[in-house]
Amino acid sequence: MISKKKQYKALLLDLDGTLLDLDIEKFIPAYIEALSAKFNGFVNRDRFVQYLFRATNKVIQNNDPLKKNETVFYEEFCRLLGLSYKQIKPLEIEFYRDDFPYLSCWGREHPCARLVIEAARRKNLTLVLATNPIFPAAAILQRLSWGGLSEELFDLITTMENMHFCKPNPAYYLEITNIINCLPENCLMAGNDTIEDLSAAEAGLDTFLVEDFILHRSKEEPFSNYRGSLKDLAFFIDSLKD
Ligand SMILES: [Mg+2]
Repeated sequence: MISKKKQYKALLLDLDGTLLDLDIEKFIPAYIEALSAKFNGFVNRDRFVQYLFRATNKVIQNNDPLKKNETVFYEEFCRLLGLSYKQIKPLEIEFYRDDFPYLSCWGREHPCARLVIEAARRKNLTLVLATNPIFPAAAILQRLSWGGLSEELFDLITTMENMHFCKPNPAYYLEITNIINCLPENCLMAGNDTIEDLSAAEAGLDTFLVEDFILHRSKEEPFSNYRGSLKDLAFFIDSLKD
C-alpha cells in the first residue's frame, strides 16, 4: 500500500463480488433461465437469450449522453422481440416481484460490508453504490438486501433508470462524480473487477482493488492505487485523515 493518503470526499462501492458474496457462475445462468421462462409465451428460450445479450450489449456500448440506459435497452429489446414496452414491462415487474427473490440462494452477506460502510460514514464520505447499471433498481435493491444492506445507507445507487453509461466506460464514473458534485480526484472507487472497476482510473478517480472475490478479465492487470481484502478497505478508510 502507498503510505501517502489523500483526503477523499466520496467512496464508490461495487456490489456483486465486493459488498455481496454472490456466486456469479450460478446466479447468471439461473437468472437468465428464470427470466426467459417468463417470456416463453412470446419467444423461444434461445432467441430470448440472444436478444437479451444483444440489448444489454447495446446499453454497455451506448455513448449518447441524452439516452438513459433503460431507454437504450427497451428500444433494442422491443425491436428484437417485436413486442411493445407495454407488453414487456408488466412481465418484468412480475418477474422481479415473484421470481427474482428465489435467486437469493446464490447470494450471501459479506461480514465486512457493514464495516466498510460504517467506516465511510464516520469519515463523512458520500457513499455511492456503483454497481453496473445494466439492471433495474428492483434487481439491484434486492441484491443489496441479500447482502444485509439497504437503500438508505447510500447517497446514490446507480441503476439502468438513472444512468446514461455503464462500466467500464469512464463516462459512467464521470457521470457519478457530476451527480454527487465531487471532483474525480477526491473519489475512491472500490471493486473486485480488474476491468470494470479499475477503469475508474481513466476518469481520474483513485481505485482500490478488493481481492476477496477478485475477477480478472485480462492477462495484464490494470493499475490500482490500493488493493486488499474488504476488511483491509475498512481499516484503510478508518486510517484516512478526518
Ligand atoms: Mg463486482
